[in-house]
Amino acid sequence: MATLYLTHDICIAHDTGPGHPERPERLRVIKQIIDTQPFDDLKREDAPMADTADIERAHPGDYIEMIREAVPEEGLVRVDGDTVLSPDSWEAALRAVGAGIHGVDCVMTGKVQNAFCAIRPCGHHAEAAVAMGFCVFNNIAIAALHARAKHGAERIAVVDFDVHHGNGTQNMFWDDKNLYFGSTHQMPLFPGTGAMTESGVGNICNAPLRAGDGGEVFREAFESRILPQLSAHRPDLILISAGFDAHERDPLGSLRLVEDDFAWATSKVIEIADKNCEGRVVSMLEGGYDLDGLANSVSAHVQVLMDAGA
Ligand SMILES: [Zn+2]
Repeated sequence: MATLYLTHDICIAHDTGPGHPERPERLRVIKQIIDTQPFDDLKREDAPMADTADIERAHPGDYIEMIREAVPEEGLVRVDGDTVLSPDSWEAALRAVGAGIHGVDCVMTGKVQNAFCAIRPCGHHAEAAVAMGFCVFNNIAIAALHARAKHGAERIAVVDFDVHHGNGTQNMFWDDKNLYFGSTHQMPLFPGTGAMTESGVGNICNAPLRAGDGGEVFREAFESRILPQLSAHRPDLILISAGFDAHERDPLGSLRLVEDDFAWATSKVIEIADKNCEGRVVSMLEGGYDLDGLANSVSAHVQVLMDAGA
């Protein structure tokens, strides 16, 4: 079965202003590499727009309205210190959410083996009623709640290897034992959460890493903490918050991962998906701000997803 690749040009048009690290070029370099021959077998689709009813599974209606009204007709608007909206941001945000939902639909109904969503804006910092850290809606939490509501998935897991802690996802999952959140991230670092002691109702697994840690420490944390708890959760579906800013070249983080580490982590998650849920995995882009590091890491990650379905 194929790997589904979801993206949309409007996600490139989402403009964050000059000098912003979360910039359109991120998706352009990903598009360039994904358009090369090794990716010929991807099943490619445009990310559809989500309905606000889908978003309401994770965000209150008045927050969604506030974002819609904040989107400018021209120029840029800041909804928090780091999070910028431009005229195309509303449609981009709807398609970012819609990619995850469509990915879940296609994976849960067996149309594809797994899916990767190359989208902006990213999502894992977005709280129920707060935009932050470049994130508007929590794309991955909405995808998880959609899988539960529409496909009867009972136990859903999110694995987050972005260099920053996915505070928004953690908060949304906090007291729901059927939703697992496992995260490796640098600490201390934005947003400040993600201590090992933050464990929800036993469903949250944080494995903070120190600045300077490389692949060996990352793999050890993954193997000793994230994976055993993921396995014990017996997920019906695994979602990946695929941020690549733990790459050694990344300007926003100080971890020292390389492409092989992301490929390794992806294959380990797929092993558990194979054992528990017929390999159902939906991966969504989060961070990654060095263009070469990002493109090469996405390439390695998507190749592992494709190998899983081959
Ligand atoms: Zn990040």
